[in-house]
Amino acid sequence: MDIKELLGTVVENDYCIGCGLCASLTDSPLTMKINENGKYEPYLYENRVQDEMEISPLSVCPFAKNNNKETEIGKSVFGDIKNIRYDEYSGYYIKSYAGYVKEGDYRSKGSSGGMGNWIASQLLKENLIDGVIHVKSNSNDNEVLFDYQISNTIDELSRGAKSKYYPIEMSQVLQFVKENNGKYALIGIPCYIKGVRLLAEQDEVINERIKFFIGLVCGHLKSDMFAKSIGWQMGIKPDELTEIDFRKKLEDRAANNYGVEVKGENNGDEIVRSSPTKELYTTNWGQGMFKYNACEFCDDVLAETADVTVGDAWLPEYSKDSKGTNVIVIRNPIIQKIFANNMDDSIYIEELSSEKVYQSQAGGFRHRRDGLSYRLYVKDQNSEWRPNKRVKPSNKHSSKRKKIYVKRMQLSQESFKAYKIAEKENDFNAYIDYMDPLLKDYKKLNTPSLARRALRKVKREAEKLVRK
Ligand SMILES: Cc1cc2nc3c(=O)[nH]c(=O)nc-3n(C[C@H](O)[C@H](O)[C@H](O)COP(=O)(O)OP(=O)(O)OC[C@H]3O[C@@H](n4cnc5c(N)ncnc54)[C@H](O)[C@@H]3O)c2cc1C
Ligand code: SF4
Ligand code: SF4
Repeated sequence: MDIKELLGTVVENDYCIGCGLCASLTDSPLTMKINENGKYEPYLYENRVQDEMEISPLSVCPFAKNNNKETEIGKSVFGDIKNIRYDEYSGYYIKSYAGYVKEGDYRSKGSSGGMGNWIASQLLKENLIDGVIHVKSNSNDNEVLFDYQISNTIDELSRGAKSKYYPIEMSQVLQFVKENNGKYALIGIPCYIKGVRLLAEQDEVINERIKFFIGLVCGHLKSDMFAKSIGWQMGIKPDELTEIDFRKKLEDRAANNYGVEVKGENNGDEIVRSSPTKELYTTNWGQGMFKYNACEFCDDVLAETADVTVGDAWLPEYSKDSKGTNVIVIRNPIIQKIFANNMDDSIYIEELSSEKVYQSQAGGFRHRRDGLSYRLYVKDQNSEWRPNKRVKPSNKHSSKRKKIYVKRMQLSQESFKAYKIAEKENDFNAYIDYMDPLLKDYKKLNTPSLARRALRKVKREAEKLVRK
């Protein structure tokens, strides 16, 4: 039976990203709960009869064996659009830009240039949708800090700006959409959008109601231990953390040198603390602490099945502006028109080539395309179950690169164990003690050799001379 197969493959082998699609289906015997590693996972309801379901969970799960269909979905949704282009990293696209919002406080309230919420606001303003399905602070539950909600006004939308590097699931919000007529836009990370596209192919109601998909560029997703560990390092115990802003802009610093702000209780008093992320132990994205294993097996960085994708323009010419700049990939002509109509007044945009779009996420692509090919190879060598991917398995990497990929995965996996030890000892230092040797090992491997550093220095000096 399909449920048994889903649990025995995707979930048991730790490829579940916790999206909740399987639990959203009519008659699903599954419900979503946060597990001991701080990630959502589907569980069987006790005593729920497992009848056949109209839509198989295997046909919508982003990590089921044969759902490596990003290119196929892209082709069927965007392939016939006039002037559409294709790039192996961006997927189908009409145009790509770097830019930010000039009007209102979208940019100051947003994670980067504020485009994510601005695009959604334009869809609301033009009555193309009635509501935006996106992630906001959860005021009903002290334990879960963020969840998917629906904003019907621009004011409600603005209260949900910024990135949530936190476990989120969609089962309840999708059930709401099925029960409540209306036109919606869904904002989400790439694998969630792919999953809902797969669902929409079979569920007429979802297909009719979710009119637009706004994708977020995605490096990887974090378990709730990421938020808790940040608070803990700043003096707020895990169960006393009440709010977190993962993307606090720091004036006069580069956009990629941002901070975090946490709120919580300490001996009965409410406290607010902030810190540049660079000063914290768990926040280096390259080290991947508290990363979902599924993210190691994902090749869609730019949400290729979304009508438009927004991310950070991590390019030196834009990163220096602390106010934040987006990279934007547009695939839907309606959204392209919204950009064309507003580019003189409300937004600032510059067209970007697909090469530049790639460069803005070069590290992510290296890890998720080159690195993935090696991880797939290792899985196959060990005869372990894995989902099919667009990337093919390969062993043709330098031995150093292979070691880096293995150590990175180890860092993520061990971070969960280390956190549980710290929790048991009620002391965050226990986390550091456990992780330090692994981290030193990884850093040694990742540090360029003396010769390479000397070469880079000579190159930099030569470039300076040329500029003079
Ligand atoms: C897990 C994760 C990993 C990311 N990794 C990268 C990366 O590697 N490189 C990169 O360039 N960008 C990455 N991003 C995207 C980046 O952090 C910003 O979200 C993006 O640049 C949009 O910024 P903005 O100012 O335009 O958005 P805003 O105007 O702030 O709007 C953001 C919108 O997204 C919604 N949202 C926030 N978090 C989530 C979530 N988890 N799921 C669904 N909706 C959400 C908000 O509710 C809001 O409506 C990531 C985002 C997430 C959530
Ligand atoms: S990835 Fe999503 S659909 Fe697949 S098992 Fe996990 S929660 Fe269910
Ligand atoms: S890296 Fe891929 S699997 Fe992980 S959250 Fe992002 S889109 Fe989903």
